Amino acid sequence: MKKNDGIIIGAILVLAVIIYFTQQWQNRVDENNKLYVEIYVNNELYDRSPLNIDKEVVIETDGGINVVKIENQSVVMKESNCPNKICMKTGHIHKPGSTIVCLPHQVYVQIVGDDNEGEDLDAISE
Ligand SMILES: [Zn+2]
Repeated sequence: MKKNDGIIIGAILVLAVIIYFTQQWQNRVDENNKLYVEIYVNNELYDRSPLNIDKEVVIETDGGINVVKIENQSVVMKESNCPNKICMKTGHIHKPGSTIVCLPHQVYVQIVGDDNEGEDLDAISE
């Protein structure tokens, strides 16, 4: 009559173990593969922050204002008073190489891997 309880508890335990190891694995991946958020304004580096911190960057340009938000290992253009709002519609990005572009304000947000700026890459592209 209480057989099902044991099965449910067992299933929860198995699930907990799976979640635990998944998180451990994710933490290790994050350590090995550090990602950074680079924000360019008018083709000049404005800000560079690790992707794994929570941060808000306010960018004021001649054209207006942009607010870039880094949270939960992803980046989003939280606010912009540009006319087309394409940058805000891009939504959250979290993979290396992903970009958010605000053309009217000349603001460019990009996720880069830590090893993107090494000699290795140059050697390969030569
Ligand atoms: Zn925009």
